[in-house]
Amino acid sequence: MSEALIFEQSHPGRTAVSLPELDVPEKPLAELVPERFLRKQPPRLPEVSEIQLVRHFTRLSQRNFCVDTHFYPLGSCTMKYNPKVNERVASLDGFAHLHPYQPEEEAQGILQLMYETQECLSEISGMDRFTLQPAAGAHGELLGMMLVKAYHQSKGRLPKRVIVPDTSHGTNPASVALTGFTVEVLSSRADGMIDPDALAGAMDDDVAAIMSTNPNTLGLFEKEIVRIAEIAHRHDALMYYDGANLNGLMGICKPGEMGFDIVHVNLHKTFSTPHGGGGPGAGPVGVKEKLAPFLPVPLVEKEGDRYYLNYGLPQSVGKIRAFYGNISVIIKAYAYILALGGKGLARATRGALVNANYLLSRLKDTFPAPYGDRCMHEFVLSAANLKEHGVRALDVAKALIDTGFHPPTVYFPLTVPEAMMIEPTETETRETLDAFSSAMIEIAETARANPDMLHESPRKAVVRRLDEVKAARQPVLRWKQGV
Ligand SMILES: *Cc1c(COP(=O)(O)O)cnc(C)c1O
Repeated sequence: MSEALIFEQSHPGRTAVSLPELDVPEKPLAELVPERFLRKQPPRLPEVSEIQLVRHFTRLSQRNFCVDTHFYPLGSCTMKYNPKVNERVASLDGFAHLHPYQPEEEAQGILQLMYETQECLSEISGMDRFTLQPAAGAHGELLGMMLVKAYHQSKGRLPKRVIVPDTSHGTNPASVALTGFTVEVLSSRADGMIDPDALAGAMDDDVAAIMSTNPNTLGLFEKEIVRIAEIAHRHDALMYYDGANLNGLMGICKPGEMGFDIVHVNLHKTFSTPHGGGGPGAGPVGVKEKLAPFLPVPLVEKEGDRYYLNYGLPQSVGKIRAFYGNISVIIKAYAYILALGGKGLARATRGALVNANYLLSRLKDTFPAPYGDRCMHEFVLSAANLKEHGVRALDVAKALIDTGFHPPTVYFPLTVPEAMMIEPTETETRETLDAFSSAMIEIAETARANPDMLHESPRKAVVRRLDEVKAARQPVLRWKQGV
């Protein structure tokens, strides 16, 4: 089953295409292309036959682990099934063949779609204005922090600190630091939530913003979020909503009504774009009216029946991406939102909550659930009870691979020892959830009876246990037989 690199399969002179004889006079390349653009040596491309080419890439594609083949309960990532019809819609000729510099009058359809997507996201999140430009959630956070800075600067202020809870996603502090603010980590209460009293104690006029995820990364709804926003606003600090967990909320309640001023939405998580492996995704950012003047240009706007790109925002933070955003992802989100409608989105959320709670109730007697037996769309378990057998969350994750399931997110959030963060999503059946929980329970039993077996897993995968530090620091990108 080993697969040689395509370069290793190469034979000089072998080719996958045969072209007819030239029926026009041949010209030297140098006559057609300026000399300085010509290579000195031909590129080192693999030379293979058509069937070698087809088999190589088909076999590699069959090694993909994806939602279309297996359950993928990666917490925080919302790996749900994405309806194929949305791919069809996004690749319709009228969309796929548009040019970004097409005159506005010839691009009214896509501008209308973008405008209406902004309107839908505003309605879902309770915000006033949206930009579709950011290419991912983390990019949305970066823009969010740029908006925070522009907002305070417009008032002649320069607060320096941004508060993030200790359960926050790593991209939150990174975005804060990249924008030149100082990260201030706030410890959560024993129940996993932000402590409003501790927050009030940490607040002063030097705080620019508070970043929060709701439901938070422990899968808990921040019940005191309205009070938290009041405390922030008393000091004119802005509330930033990390919308990666919107799948636990959409259609039911709105961040805008909880007091948030800026939100990002991960379209690739919540609104139907396959992800994992790096994109493309989209992280549209919505704001309350007071922040609208700072949004990146161009904004998609409507006047009468006409849609247009508005570059006329003197206080804008500028452009943050080429053109207008990852349009195919936005088309898929639009199709998904319209297909489900408000009621459908709420139903999807309820399904996600029911599935997560069902799974939690099946697993909580095997693995400690540090934050109780109720959750939103995801939950965190601890594998710390297996430590006495020398088994860690990492071993449980690797053993799951052999059972045909993708491991959950492990070692995040950082506040839970041996954390395993599980998000089943609304698209899974009860049978799948039962099979997954049985596999988890069986692994816990093996941990007690035969822990060494877990240390050797995965045993059935194409690659076995990797040295994760070495794999990141010294990646070996050449396949060697037997490795
Ligand atoms: C995924 C995620 C992000 C970052 O989003 P990307 O689209 O991957 O950049 C931020 N916060 C949380 C809680 C997330 O789960």
